[in-house]
Amino acid sequence: MITITNIKRVGSEKTESVTIEGGLIKGWNLPTDQQGEGQVIDGQGGTVAPALIELHAHLREPGQTEKEDLSSGLAAAAAGGYGTVVSMPNTSPVVDDPAIVRSLIEKANSLGFARLRPAAALTKGQKGEELAELTYLKEAGAAMFTDDGRTNENARTLRLGLETAGSLGMVISVHAEDATLRADGVMNEGPVSEALGLPGNPAAAEAARVARDIEIVAGLHAQGVPARLHIQHLSTARALDLVRAAKAQGLPVTCEVCPHHLTLTDEALRSFDAIYKVAPPLRTQADADHLLEGLQDGSVDCLATDHAPHTRAEKERDLLDAPSGIAYIELAFPLMYTRFGETLGLERILDLMTAAPARVMGWDEPTLDAGAKADLVVLDLTTERPVNPAEFKSKAKFTPWAGETLKGWPVLTVVDGKVAYQR
Ligand SMILES: [Zn+2]
Repeated sequence: MITITNIKRVGSEKTESVTIEGGLIKGWNLPTDQQGEGQVIDGQGGTVAPALIELHAHLREPGQTEKEDLSSGLAAAAAGGYGTVVSMPNTSPVVDDPAIVRSLIEKANSLGFARLRPAAALTKGQKGEELAELTYLKEAGAAMFTDDGRTNENARTLRLGLETAGSLGMVISVHAEDATLRADGVMNEGPVSEALGLPGNPAAAEAARVARDIEIVAGLHAQGVPARLHIQHLSTARALDLVRAAKAQGLPVTCEVCPHHLTLTDEALRSFDAIYKVAPPLRTQADADHLLEGLQDGSVDCLATDHAPHTRAEKERDLLDAPSGIAYIELAFPLMYTRFGETLGLERILDLMTAAPARVMGWDEPTLDAGAKADLVVLDLTTERPVNPAEFKSKAKFTPWAGETLKGWPVLTVVDGKVAYQR
């Protein structure tokens, strides 16, 4: 049994306590004699919310554990306030085999950090041609199907995947980028890429692919075939407008936006620092402003980080050769709260990082009610602290926001009734 004292629920100024037993929330403000013999943790006046849910993280296990592994990645997630993480299957080997899904879940459970819900590959080897054994992958515990890291060039395979996954009640998430339009682009195509003389990746690469995928869903929907498409890391205004239109027609399409696409633009590439190389690339301020509007009006469903660790040596290569990706699962909430707390409000930001991803997946919405699963985070909304990547639990100890002063840091994360992180 654990009792956390000296905490406030979102929207309330009342100082309360919550008691946790057997992985569930036993009750609020219980008299001391009902708190049992358990541990008492001082919540330091923090604000308590359901633990965050991440639908898009690269934990690099199996096969790329010099970048990250389950232990470092899930500890980093817990430090970032996350209780549940969906890991991407573009590992080595690819997660396209039920035995790998099972072994990942088993290992993650033994660690005691954030809970792992692995995504499995949509196609064998993520080659985009032949569907993986979706039924068996679901039975093994796969949370969703995706070929993220690769783009689904074969539209017929994606359509078949949407039909099959839909009949299983499963979501397919897509890295929506037309590989022929992207070509060898390493940054957003526009005045900055032209000035720098670097190959550009046009906004049309994303919008064209989103349009294609929405049309596939629309066709299936018209035939009464259930299909659920989730578009990952949306980065352009045009693609968001396409999602808006699809939603207005009642199509089962959802999308996520990453904090880095809201807070950074292609101007950052003027430094020639590959830390800013991500896929899809950092776009323009106009795109970022449009995505923020989408978060406000509900056309963006949820936030996700696309936590994508690499070794420092890889990210120190030049822009043409360095791999894409930023790792920052530990500061996603403080970054969002510090930059957009006033625009979006605390409750909307928390919804985008807790209940909203659960809705996308069709999971029960997390609550803090008595009887609910004890997955929660205590956030210190006031203390400002500089970002110090040396303290990261992630193996990627560098970040574009190093030294920036943020507030909203998690001080305690509880997963399944157990302490997964305590500052
Ligand atoms: Zn991706």
